[in-house]
Amino acid sequence: MQLEFSNVNHYYGRRQAIGGLSFDLRQGEIGVLIGPSGAGKSTVLNCIAGLEPIVSGEIRIGGELASGTRVHVPAERRQVGMMFQDSALFPHLDVAGNICFGIAKRTDRSTRLAELLELCRLADYAGARVHELSGGQQQRVALARALAPRPKLLLLDEPFCSSDAALRSELLAEVRQIIKEEGSTALMVTHDQAEAFEFADRCGVLDSGTLCQWDSPYNLYHRPNCALVASFIGDGALIPGTLVSEHEVETELGVVSSDQRLTTLLMEAGHKVKVLMRPDDVVLANGCGGTRAQVFKRAFRGADILYGLRTGAGTELYACLPSRHDLAAGDAIEVSLQVEHVVVFPAVE
Ligand code: ADP
Repeated sequence: MQLEFSNVNHYYGRRQAIGGLSFDLRQGEIGVLIGPSGAGKSTVLNCIAGLEPIVSGEIRIGGELASGTRVHVPAERRQVGMMFQDSALFPHLDVAGNICFGIAKRTDRSTRLAELLELCRLADYAGARVHELSGGQQQRVALARALAPRPKLLLLDEPFCSSDAALRSELLAEVRQIIKEEGSTALMVTHDQAEAFEFADRCGVLDSGTLCQWDSPYNLYHRPNCALVASFIGDGALIPGTLVSEHEVETELGVVSSDQRLTTLLMEAGHKVKVLMRPDDVVLANGCGGTRAQVFKRAFRGADILYGLRTGAGTELYACLPSRHDLAAGDAIEVSLQVEHVVVFPAVE
């Protein structure tokens, strides 16, 4: 493992900011922590970078103990690179000067500089000043500078947060590709779930200093392990249901069955449960015996429209329908369920 963050606790004074947090990253993997403001994302990065001591637990970087109860390797000896939302480049240096700042004196600077200029598609800008560069180019210089000393781990703190939407999506793909080409191990924190899904090999939801599920973006979306992850990740609703057998759950909109066993020690047949309904689980069934529901909200997204629907019994759920069906708030439709991944949670957790 290139990063092992094991059962770490951190306090600011008497206030706990991280509680028993564990996750890891293999060499060459990109991890992302998603969470709202105040969840503890920056604190995790600062603990890894060596800017904050931990109270208990262990942080290992490249197999070596960097933080422990009685161990605190200083930040400058951790071989960790950082990239922030503000590129924080030196305005008085040109691109080459900024990148070389990160290259250790002993190494062959010109070879490494040429490699990084090529990798970060900056070969034509080596002599350019920072103010002559676009926002995207500045971020690529910041990335090249962080990668220059070949860090064991790259940390990214909301690096695309101040970019506009179009640039953000372009930068995200570019930065991911550069990190992969370099074979670096990286950890990014963000509050943006779409960004996390596009960037991560593995990600998790951070909430009040604890981590809920450390998994692939696919599993986080389709197989959330708790109601908190289910509601934080993606659109969707938790609707009431009853387990009618090991593989079936009954809802107001019909019985949904799963290949996987749904019952657990906490949820047996007969128990009331909450069933996760993603917008793509709900399909239009006008005239086909669907359940009647009324549109209470709509968000136009171009190719499709996300509708908020309310059934006669008051259950709210979401449906993502092609935008050729242009419905308005108050319209009534019939819907049915087509659920690929059935996810249930106890009605009371
Ligand atoms: P995030 O990066 O997810 O927004 P932070 O790691 O910055 O969250 O903060 C986690 C919690 O710790 C918050 O409640 C925040 O107010 C608190 N906190 C962060 N930095 C300090 C600090 N230097 N001193 C005291 N409390 C802090």
